[in-house]
Amino acid sequence: MRTLDHTHDPTATSWIETANDPHAVFPPQSLPYGVFLADEWPRPGVAIGDQVVDLTALAEAGLLSAAATVAIRDYVDLTGLMSLPVAERVALRHQLFALLTDPKSRLATDSQLQRTALRPLASVQLLKPVDVGDYSDFYASLYHATNVGSMFRPDNPLLPNWKHLPIGYHGRASSLVVSGTAVQRPQGQLPPAQEGAHPTFGPCRQLDYELEVGAYLTGGNPLGHPIPLSAAEDHLFGISLVNDWSARDMQRWEYQPLGPFLAKSFATTVSSWVTTMEALAPFRCPGFTRGPADPPLLPYLDSTENADSGGLQLHLEVYLSSATMREQRLPPLRLSHGSFGNMYWTFAQMLTHHASNGCNINPGDLIASGTVSGAERSSRGCLLELTWDGEYGHPVPGSQRTPLRLPSGEERLFLQDGDEVIIQGWCENSTHRRIHLGECRGTIVG
Ligand code: MN
Repeated sequence: MRTLDHTHDPTATSWIETANDPHAVFPPQSLPYGVFLADEWPRPGVAIGDQVVDLTALAEAGLLSAAATVAIRDYVDLTGLMSLPVAERVALRHQLFALLTDPKSRLATDSQLQRTALRPLASVQLLKPVDVGDYSDFYASLYHATNVGSMFRPDNPLLPNWKHLPIGYHGRASSLVVSGTAVQRPQGQLPPAQEGAHPTFGPCRQLDYELEVGAYLTGGNPLGHPIPLSAAEDHLFGISLVNDWSARDMQRWEYQPLGPFLAKSFATTVSSWVTTMEALAPFRCPGFTRGPADPPLLPYLDSTENADSGGLQLHLEVYLSSATMREQRLPPLRLSHGSFGNMYWTFAQMLTHHASNGCNINPGDLIASGTVSGAERSSRGCLLELTWDGEYGHPVPGSQRTPLRLPSGEERLFLQDGDEVIIQGWCENSTHRRIHLGECRGTIVG
C-alpha cells in the first residue's frame, strides 16, 4: 500500500493558478497520466489545472530520473511508465510535484521550457493511454452478480464458486477505444423469438453499457510465477473509468457454456486519464465486510492489509443524453450514482487470482472490475438492472421490464442510436483534495 507524503498535502498549491481553484478537476495532488497528440505525434503527459505537461519535453530538458527518461523516450504511450518499479513511480510523482508546485523550480522559471512543455488541455486531442496487450474483465460486485443471477436463476442467483474466487473472462484488447470514440451498434446472432424458432442475424436490439473501473497493471511476473497478494498492490499502476458495452440479446444466446464472446468484444471504452495508486492513497478503505454468510477465503486471497485497506472510496455516476435531448438542449440525465467502496473483491485479489496459475502479466495490461452496482436501485450500474422490476436478489414473479423515462418524453429499456453514455468518478473525503478521474464517454451510432 502506498504511504501518504507531502504530495497529498491538501494545502499544497501550484504556480499554475488554475490547479488551485477549489473546483479544479486536476489539482496538484492528482497528477494523472495520459497520452496526447502533439504535432501529429503521440506523447505521454501529465494533467494539472487546465494544462497538460509534455513529459518528453521534461525528459529532454534533463529534469527527470534516468529510469523515467528512458521509460518516456522509448514509448509513445504509458507502457514505459507502467514498466517502472514502484520506487521509480513514486520518485517520478515527487519530481513532477516539485516542478509544478515550487515557484522556483526550473519549469516555473524557464519561460522557453514552458513554451515547449505546457499546452492547454482544451487544445489537445487525447489518445488511448496504453496500447493494451491483454484485457480481462471481472464480475466483482455482489449486488450486480446477485441481480443478474436472479433474472436467470431466481432460486439460485449466485453460483457456488462466486464467493470463493473473483470470476472473470478474457476480454478483447483490440477493440478498446478512448473516451469520445463513437461506438458502432454491433450485428450478431440473436436468440430465437420463441421456443422452437430459429435464431436470426442482425443489429443488436438490447444494447447496454456497464459502469466499471479498470486497473492498469505493471506486470513483471515471469511465466510460471504467481503474484502473491502481499505484492499485488505494487503491481497496480493506476485506475481509469471503463464502459464495457454489452449486447444483451447476443450475450443471452452465446454465453453458455464458455462465457461472453461477441456480446462484449465489439467495443470497450476507457477514460483518457490514468490516476495513479500514489494519488489514490488518501482514499483507500477496507475491502467488503464479510459476514457469517460468507465462506472463509483461501489463504492466497486473504490478508489483513487487503481487508483493512484494499478497497477504494470512489464515487461513480452515469449519465445519458439522447439525440433528442441534445436537440432540445436538455442536460444529460443522471441514471445512477454509487460507490466503488462496496465491491466484494479488491483489485489486488483480482490480480493475484489472475496470476495464481502462473499466467504472466505484462506492463500495460488492463483488468476491469465488472459492473459496479450497489444494494439500492439508484446505484445499479447497467440498464439490464436499472429497467429490471426486481429488488436486490428478488425478482417480482411474472414481472416485465419498466422503461426509463427521459426528460424529452422518450423511453428506454436499452440504448438507441444517438444515445451518449457518460461515466464520471471522483474520490472525496473531508481531509484531502478531491481526485477526479475525468470521464468516459461514448455515443452509439447505427
Ligand atoms: Mn463487464
